Amino acid sequence: MTYLIEARRLRMEFGGLVAVDDVDMQITAGEIRGLIGPNGSGKTTLLNLMSGWLRPRSGQLLWKDQHVTRQSHYRLARLGIGRTFQLGALFEEMTCLQNVSMSLYASTPWNPLAGILGLRSEGRRADTIEQQAVSLLELMDILDVRDELAGSLPLGYRRWLAMAMALSIEPELLMLDEPLGGMNPVEKTATMARVSGLAEHGVTILLVEHDMNAVMGFCDRVSVLNAGQKIAEGSPETVRADQRVIDAYLGGEG
Ligand code: ADP
Ligand code: MG
Repeated sequence: MTYLIEARRLRMEFGGLVAVDDVDMQITAGEIRGLIGPNGSGKTTLLNLMSGWLRPRSGQLLWKDQHVTRQSHYRLARLGIGRTFQLGALFEEMTCLQNVSMSLYASTPWNPLAGILGLRSEGRRADTIEQQAVSLLELMDILDVRDELAGSLPLGYRRWLAMAMALSIEPELLMLDEPLGGMNPVEKTATMARVSGLAEHGVTILLVEHDMNAVMGFCDRVSVLNAGQKIAEGSPETVRADQRVIDAYLGGEG
């Protein structure tokens, strides 16, 4: 296996707008990859293409050298591609434990008849799911709020809960869409510590961020989008010093 995931000239258009313009990207197992770019540069669209939530206009997607281009997000999740959403949706009226349990139920194959008939295996399944949910809350270091309603949590906890839910499919690759957006510096540090922890557990990370500085210390490599095109890729130091990247950010902010 050469790459864990590989995008080949992926393209997406909305009406006349080219949101992702023939973008190539290769991610190796074990790396933390940053995907940065100004607002509207196509980061979320590329992530949607690479996780099966959007079908590309053209181009290919490969997972462990296998073509998976037009497969649904359900199928890609089964293969090990997990993600969070920029405006993460939680079950606001449920506790953290229930939120994670819901995503575990949604991602665990089961025998419907056993559930309807109330067989013992279903009881065991519920126990196992609760144990798994507890482990995921522990992994994200939010077990202290397991019985709090998701809707009552501060932003940091909400994002960490969303990450715990994304982990319910046991992803090999986890894509995070602006997990630091709107956070204060303390929350950002706490979030990146959790992301690093997942990487240490062997999860490959694709970290989408608008804030370039926030990702520089954590990523092995960084890819930069501007107006749908990949304009730079390399080590954080190389990318930070790249004149096209500086111009894109100055233009985007101006
Ligand atoms: P980013 O995540 O980098 O901020 P997006 O991928 O969300 O950028 O958007 C890239 C471009 O595509 C933007 O111009 C945006 O307005 C447009 N776009 C994104 N999604 C849609 C959609 N569903 N319909 C029409 N235009 C879209
Ligand atoms: Mg976005």
